[in-house]
Amino acid sequence: MFQLILTACLAVSSAVCAPILLPAGEAASLDACKATAARISQAWLAERPTLTGGASTCLPVSDLPSLPLQQIAPGVFVYEGSPVQMEDTGDGRIANLAVVIGERSVAVIDSGVSRAQGQEFYAAIRGLTDLPVSHLILTHMHPDHVFGASVFREAGAQILGHAALPQALELRAQTYLDNIARLYPPATVLGTETVLAETTVEDRLEIDLGRRRLTLAAAPVAHTDNDLTVFDHETGTLFAGDLLFRDLTPILDGSLSGWLQWGDVPPDPMPRLVVPGHGPVAANWAQAVTPQQAFLKALEEETRAQIRDGIPMSSAVSQIVNRLEKMAEYWNAFPESAARNATAAYKELEWE
Ligand SMILES: [Zn+2]
Repeated sequence: MFQLILTACLAVSSAVCAPILLPAGEAASLDACKATAARISQAWLAERPTLTGGASTCLPVSDLPSLPLQQIAPGVFVYEGSPVQMEDTGDGRIANLAVVIGERSVAVIDSGVSRAQGQEFYAAIRGLTDLPVSHLILTHMHPDHVFGASVFREAGAQILGHAALPQALELRAQTYLDNIARLYPPATVLGTETVLAETTVEDRLEIDLGRRRLTLAAAPVAHTDNDLTVFDHETGTLFAGDLLFRDLTPILDGSLSGWLQWGDVPPDPMPRLVVPGHGPVAANWAQAVTPQQAFLKALEEETRAQIRDGIPMSSAVSQIVNRLEKMAEYWNAFPESAARNATAAYKELEWE
C-alpha cells in the first residue's frame, strides 16, 4: 500500500512546512498513487487558503512515521499517550488512542491532538490492516482526543460522538486551536482543523465491523457534558475515554457529582479490560476506578467543608489544594490541575 504525502506550507510563511498524508491518494501500487497525486493534492489545498505547497510524493506505509501501537487483546490495539499535561510535552500527545479491527472494517477511538498525530496513527493502522476505517469515535471534546480527526474523515470514516459533542466542540474549538498554536512549534500543528461528529449518540448505538459489535454509550454529565464510552463485545474491552484517568490527575470539566455517580455504578456487562483516556490499560474495573473515586471523593469532601464554613471561593481554592496535597504523590501534574479542579468543584457545589 502506498500513501500520498503532500508538503504543505503556511501561506504567510513558506518556511513553515509539514508533510500531509492524504488518504484519498492511497493506492496499491506506486504508479497508481502517482497517477492521481497532483489532482488530489491540488483539490486538498484549494479548500485551505491558509496553506500552500505543491510537491508531493508516494511512499510505502513502511517508510512513514507511525505511532507505536500495542495489542492488548485480539484485534484491539492501543497507543498509550504520555500521562502528563499538554503543557509538559513538546507535541501534546498525551491521550490514549485505540483501534478495533473487525472482519469487514476498522473502528478508531479518538484521533490525537493534531493532524500530524492523526496521520501517524493512520499510518500505524495501515501497518496492521488494509481494511477500510469505517468509524472514528470521539470520546469527548478535549483537544488531545479530537484534533487528528480530519485524516480519518478524508479516509472515509463516519465520525461519531455524544449528542452534546458537536455544539460543545464548536464553542471551544478556536480556543483549543489557539492554545495548541501557543504551546507547540507551527510545523507540529500545521493542517490541524476541527471536525464535528456527524452521527451522534443520545443513549446507545451499536455498530458492526463484521463479526464484531461495538456498543457506544452516552454518559450523563461527568468529566465533561459529552462523554461517550465504547464496549467491544468480542474481547470485553471497555474504552472509557476520560471518564477514567490513571496516573494523570483527573480534570473536572463537567460535574463532580455526576462523575462520582458514574464511577459508583459498575458497568454491565463487566469489562475484562479497561482502557482509560490517560494512563495504562487496567486489568479490571476496580483497578481502573478505585483511585479516581478516592481522588474525586476527597475533592468533594474538602470543597463541601469550605462551603459549609462559609469560606469564599477566593480563599477556599488554595485551602482545598493544600488539603489535597497529600494525594500529589499518586497523580502526575497535580499542581497544574489542583486549583482548576477546586474552582470547578466549588462553583458546582456552592449552589446545592
Ligand atoms: Zn478530557
